[in-house]
Amino acid sequence: MANNEDQFKKVLSHAKEYGYVFQSSEIYDGLSAVYDYAQNGVELKKNIRDYWWKAMVQLNDNIVGIDAAIFMHPTTWKASGHVDAFNDPLIDNKDSKKRYRADVLIEDYCAKIEAKIDKEVKKAEKRFGDAFNKEEFVSTNGRVLGYQEKINTILSRMAKSLENEDLADVKALIEELEIADPLSGSKNWTDVKQFNLMFGTKLGASADSAMDLYLRPETAQGIFVNFLNVQKTGRMKIPFGIAQTGKAFRNEIVARQFIFRMREFEQMEMQFFIKPGTQTEWFKHWKEARLKWHLSLGLGEDNYRFHDHEKLAHYADAATDIEFKFPFGFKELEGIHSRTDFDLKQHEEYSGKKLQYFDHEENESYTPYVLETSIGLDRMFLAVFSNSLIEEELEDGSSRTVLKLPAVLAPVKAAILPLVKKDEGLVKLSKQIIEDLKWDYNVVYDEKDAVGRRYRRQDANGTPFCITVDGESLENNTVTIRHRDTMEQQRVKIEDLKSIIKKEVDVKEWLMKM
Ligand code: ATP
Repeated sequence: MANNEDQFKKVLSHAKEYGYVFQSSEIYDGLSAVYDYAQNGVELKKNIRDYWWKAMVQLNDNIVGIDAAIFMHPTTWKASGHVDAFNDPLIDNKDSKKRYRADVLIEDYCAKIEAKIDKEVKKAEKRFGDAFNKEEFVSTNGRVLGYQEKINTILSRMAKSLENEDLADVKALIEELEIADPLSGSKNWTDVKQFNLMFGTKLGASADSAMDLYLRPETAQGIFVNFLNVQKTGRMKIPFGIAQTGKAFRNEIVARQFIFRMREFEQMEMQFFIKPGTQTEWFKHWKEARLKWHLSLGLGEDNYRFHDHEKLAHYADAATDIEFKFPFGFKELEGIHSRTDFDLKQHEEYSGKKLQYFDHEENESYTPYVLETSIGLDRMFLAVFSNSLIEEELEDGSSRTVLKLPAVLAPVKAAILPLVKKDEGLVKLSKQIIEDLKWDYNVVYDEKDAVGRRYRRQDANGTPFCITVDGESLENNTVTIRHRDTMEQQRVKIEDLKSIIKKEVDVKEWLMKM
């Protein structure tokens, strides 16, 4: 636990020190759960977005993109259910005056029991060595089964109480489990209340005519209300998808996990419109496709797991989360939901406009069903960044900090370093190399400090290649190229640089692994 906390602290300070993420309005002491992406962060974020867009839109001939406005007609949020039901159950601690999400307190309690299961597994693994069969162990070991049953009982009671709006029972559960305020240790709780997460604002200048609006809490509704426009103008045939990336806003109650839970964040969503009755096969398809996308980045198969929802939202007939192992444990990174025809039917009812599809093959009209994939761009950023930050022991006993970002996502692809900054010839050739490479790749020039220190700086920045220009370069047009992960150095021709870099950073090479 302590190690994970340390790792998380390192992630935060590294993100700031290397120009990835800053606290918003830091000179005014910041704004809680709002962050700015800095010079490197903005590139990493853009590369993640592009990687998603390419896989979802460009490579699928039946998926197109849109960019809907953040402001939407207020009735949208009545139809979607957000005005009435986009609530989190909150609870205050009377002594510390801190506010928590009641469901998160209970889930964190269960995560502690889960940690005990992990401990039993590790112990048994050690004892049995190669003969150890994890699946068999967790399905037969008495202690593990006991823990698992406890988790299941707690979570299903919570789910039932939340569904029935029985907030008194949620409080009773917190009291029965003797859950204490994680900061103060106090068990002196208020009642549980519902809290709507949407930010309100006003459109229009005069007080009388101003219209109450919301900042969108998800991008999905911009897709639903445009369903027919896109279908008609794009002559789309079912099954087809509409994808969108963009900002969403939620007045989160608990926002203490850096860019994991923000009040202003970015989503990458895709709504796939299908024929009713085919949702089970498409749910399976998108579950597999999305996991493959994640795995293509090579962050490690063991860091992902599916969490199928037992309790489903009233509009869904299947739902799963792709969870990622963040420094603070496995948490939701992406949601995949089979939403039936709920959204289109609701908008049809509230707008009075028909939102149906005429199927020429079947010669009939119907309201399509929808499969949604929804991932938080900032959470994906955190997954990639935290997983890549490594403290590596070297053979000579020293250590280095290296940010092993997937090369395709790295903000800067190569740093060009003249061995000696005072040598005009080396500087000139370095700049010529930059002039040539910058049309294809984001590259930087770095002449300060000894070359070893420059290598370390670029390692910590996540730059996959360092290209060093030295005296020999002037004689025979060759340079040294150093690889971030292996630290291997090769002497190569300047004219070959582009193809060497391309091999490692090309989106195609990465996405072909899917
Ligand atoms: P959580 O249970 O963590 O609050 P959610 O189930 O409400 O998430 P969805 O409404 O399904 O999330 O949103 C889809 C995705 O948007 C999530 O999987 C997550 O990656 C991202 N997301 C949601 N809320 C936030 C937030 N406050 N900050 C950053 N990303 C978020």
